[in-house]
Amino acid sequence: MKALDELTFDNRFARLGDAFSTHVLPEPLDEPRLVVASKAAMALLDLDPAVAETPVFAELFGGHKLWAEAEPRAMVYSGHQFGGYTPQLGDGRGLLLGEVYNEAGEHWDLHLKGAGMTPYSRMGDGRAVLRSSIREFLASEALHALGIPTSRALCVIGSSTPVWREKQERGAMVLRLAHSHIRFGHFEYFYYTKKPEQQAELAEHVLNLHYPECREQPEPYLAMFREIVERNAEMIAKWQAYGFCHGVMNTDNMSILGITFDFGPFAFLDDFDAHFICNHSDHEGRYSFSNQVPIGQWNLSALAQALTPFISVEALKEALGLYLPLYQAHYLDLMRRRLGLTTAEEDDQTLVEGLLKLMQNSGVDYTLFLRRLGDESATLAVARLRDDFVDMAGFDAWAERYKARVARDGDYTQEQRRERMHAVNPLYILRNYLAQNAITAAESGDYSEVRRLHDVLTRPFEEQAGMEQYAQRPPDWGKHLEISCSS
Ligand code: AMP
Ligand code: MG
Repeated sequence: MKALDELTFDNRFARLGDAFSTHVLPEPLDEPRLVVASKAAMALLDLDPAVAETPVFAELFGGHKLWAEAEPRAMVYSGHQFGGYTPQLGDGRGLLLGEVYNEAGEHWDLHLKGAGMTPYSRMGDGRAVLRSSIREFLASEALHALGIPTSRALCVIGSSTPVWREKQERGAMVLRLAHSHIRFGHFEYFYYTKKPEQQAELAEHVLNLHYPECREQPEPYLAMFREIVERNAEMIAKWQAYGFCHGVMNTDNMSILGITFDFGPFAFLDDFDAHFICNHSDHEGRYSFSNQVPIGQWNLSALAQALTPFISVEALKEALGLYLPLYQAHYLDLMRRRLGLTTAEEDDQTLVEGLLKLMQNSGVDYTLFLRRLGDESATLAVARLRDDFVDMAGFDAWAERYKARVARDGDYTQEQRRERMHAVNPLYILRNYLAQNAITAAESGDYSEVRRLHDVLTRPFEEQAGMEQYAQRPPDWGKHLEISCSS
């Protein structure tokens, strides 16, 4: 266990120099205070969890203090936003404080979001508000607990600094951890600004540090791109299987590591709805729930375009072709497990689709349905759950098919079925209204609800005594909360 001043830095990205990032110091928040910290994320840095409660913790992650070895940098990148190319973006309000390596030898970027203005702030104020910082913190840690690849969050620091959005709010910072903060948009930036040398340097950096095994392949860059395609297919399959809607899948929000990244107006589905649009500003539904799958491929194509200096177009196309089949395979595998199936049959795809269609038509709670399906034997569970469906005849027909499929699947006890299903079907997810309750309390200075919710979400598959209120459908007010893009 380490104290805060015992972190070891090795700032590999900063060493790439000024063509890639700019030195900027964090702008401190007034009266910084700990809102919430993740013990699990602290463990990634070997930090003693007790240090979260010390004043110096809030000072460090509230922009007042810095380690002597930290080299805070704002990264430059660009990206396709809602399908159109924006030539220059960059860290407009976040700073890569430095890279820390832990005792296991893993490097973690410390990225402080809401750290003040940078050369890339454009019209922005460089700040993040408490509400969006809490949402990013909770989402990162909740997705991780569900087994979905994601950046992590160490803490949220609140403050008394006023920040203007639609109304006056308070500034906050979230400390994000990831093995890298390089985005698809980094490659696009050097490609479209025609800086081949820097682009090559960036590619070498990513290959050496993050995909070293691809070095052994005959075409290392192609192997790396294939791996990125595979990781994205798997990540998005998990989003779809767990009902996670990212909301802003611009290429500047896509990590080169295939992890969920840059949380904005995200949401988990309550009622199943393939057409759900979580981002209030996404009028055309480009990033609707079901569109995430083709958009994943669109984003990879945008990255492929930026990689044409290193890889032949033929080879890039072939690698892109891996995306959909891989996505399908991962998705179906996970959905089979969610349905309690241990074997694969040709028709499983239509079994899943049939269920989703019924849920869609009746507005059935996606998470709770699948959880309850495992509570009892297939026969008893479907008999109980049919009341949730408007089209009962339709559901009965599906239920017959499901029971027959379960019977063919194998001979196991209900105890085994429940255990297996509950291990992949969460009871607790980060519903928008739960986040909203925690935010409302935090905005009035009470952080206990954020902390409790975070705690519940770190063990989503485990029934927790006294926490029934976190495993309910939303009340009416919480059903269609509009989450604005402003953050
Ligand atoms: P996002 O939609 O949060 O992924 O941000 C898109 C771009 O806008 C990124 O370059 C951000 O750094 C920048 N940005 C967002 N909010 C702010 C802000 N309040 N101040 C400065 N830059 C911002
Ligand atoms: Mg972003």
